[in-house]
Parts: sequence; C-alpha cells; structure tokens
Amino acid sequence: MGLLEGKVALITGAARGIGKAIALKFASEGADIAFTDLVIDAVAEETVREVEAFGHKVKAYASDASDFEASQATVSEVVSEFGRIDVLVNNAGITRDGLVMRMSEAQWDTVIAVNMKSAFNYMHAVVPVMARQRGGSIINMSSIAGQMGNPGQVNYAATKAGLIAMAQSVAKEMGARGIRANAIAPGFIISDMTAALPEKVREEYIAQIPLKRGGTTEEVAKVALFLASDLSSYVSGQVIPVNGALYC
Ligand code: NAD
Repeated sequence: MGLLEGKVALITGAARGIGKAIALKFASEGADIAFTDLVIDAVAEETVREVEAFGHKVKAYASDASDFEASQATVSEVVSEFGRIDVLVNNAGITRDGLVMRMSEAQWDTVIAVNMKSAFNYMHAVVPVMARQRGGSIINMSSIAGQMGNPGQVNYAATKAGLIAMAQSVAKEMGARGIRANAIAPGFIISDMTAALPEKVREEYIAQIPLKRGGTTEEVAKVALFLASDLSSYVSGQVIPVNGALYC
C-alpha cells in the first residue's frame, strides 16, 4: 500500500525538472496526478506516459499559473475530472536575473507573477476544496535564495521568501480544517533551470556546498512525498531545506 494511495495531487509546472520528479514519486506511491505546464508539448506528453506507467490516472493541463482566471478554471476542471484534491504543489517557477539597478520592471513583474502570484491563484481555488474534504497538504516550492538572498536575484529571492510566508499564513488560517501548508527550500538542484547557468558559475556553487555536489530532482521529490503524506501529519507552517548544508 503506497503512502498516497487513493489521493489526488495537483502539481504546477511539472512537465520537467523538479515538478516531474514529484509527479513520478507521488504516482509511485499510489496517487492520481493532475499537472499543469505552459504548453502540453512532446516533453509534457512523455511525462504523462512515464506517470501512467505506475498504473494511476494522470492528466496534463496547459495553463499559465500566473493567470488568475486560467488557474481557477484549471482547478475546476481537475475537481470535475478527479473528484477531489488532496495535495497541491505550487512548483511553477522561472528566473529573470539581473542586478537590482539593471533589472527592468518587466523582469520584476514577470517573476513575481509566475513564482508567487501563481501560488495565490492555486491556493485561492484549492483551499475551499480541501476545506470541504477536511484535509489536504499544500507544498510551496521555495528556494535557498528565499532564505539567504542571492546577488542578481532580487526578484526571484523575494518570491521565494514570499512562498515561505504564504505557507506559514495558510497553515495558521486553515489548520482547524486539517489543511497543512509547508515549503521546500532546495539549494542547487541539477535541472534545466541550473543547466542554463554558465559552467564557471555552476562550479563555484558546487565548491561551496559541503556535500560537494548538486542535489537531484529525486532528492527534492522525496521531501515532497514526506510533506504530502501522513508521515508529516503534525508538520505544518515549516520550511524544509534540501541544500547539502549550503545554508544552515
Ligand atoms: P524547470 O525550469 O526545469 O521547470 C519549471 C517548469 O515550470 C517548466 O516545465 C516550465 O515550463 C514551467 N512553468 C514556467 N512558467 C510557468 C507558468 N507560468 N505556468 C505553468 N508552468 C510554468 O525548473 P526546476 O528546476 O524544475 O524548478 C522547479 C521549481 O523549483 C521552481 O519553482 C524553482 O524556482 C524551484 N527551485 C529550483 C532550484 C534548482 O536548483 N533547480 C532550486 C531552488 C528552487
């Protein structure tokens, strides 16, 4: 019997990277999976096939998580298709880096909308569903940048700190209805997002990590499984770092 048997999980931005690893991990523990991404292309279709291989229901939705109306509509579709939502992972995220004095207003606004407003959009629609069910687990994908700041990422770091505060606030608002909300703060994880960094920057990061390597998407997914399942039934309003001791 899997840890998430009979549960339905909704994961944003899960065609690839950390979101995909979470979808696979949850499905391997018995969950049905609904996931979103900007477009459902060949990469997303491949994720659908890999999740399906675990023998559970899976559906991918093309939906921009920064768009309020689209997010409300997607949650409605998921509820009519799957009947319930037990786990929400606010994972969709982007970077638009630049030093604060050179950062454009568009760079700031886009990152705030995609990384942080998106979590509001989904929590706004999913919390009433979980409240009716008298339970649920919300996981916000924060970052080490939200805990210690990062040069060139004033926009990104602000959203990732915001995602921690949003999880803490919802944990306090909704605890009486059995809803838990937590954040995960990954450090340097090997994914398309970090592959985009110049080789030299990547090497410098890894040299500073006490475990001397980047983390894997699977290692983040295992912590998401802990937070999604009853293994963490008394854990709420917390942030769990997955950073190889880079920040502690
Ligand atoms: P990724 O770029 O590999 O995947 C992100 C996914 O989100 C992509 O599939 C992308 O298409 C999707 N997405 C982007 N904008 C979207 C939108 N508006 N609506 C719906 N989907 C959208 O990145 P990743 O490394 O897998 O990162 C996943 C999350 O983890 C992000 O929130 C990121 O900030 C966070 N994170 C990553 C690292 C890391 O080192 N990789 C570290 C800390 C935190």
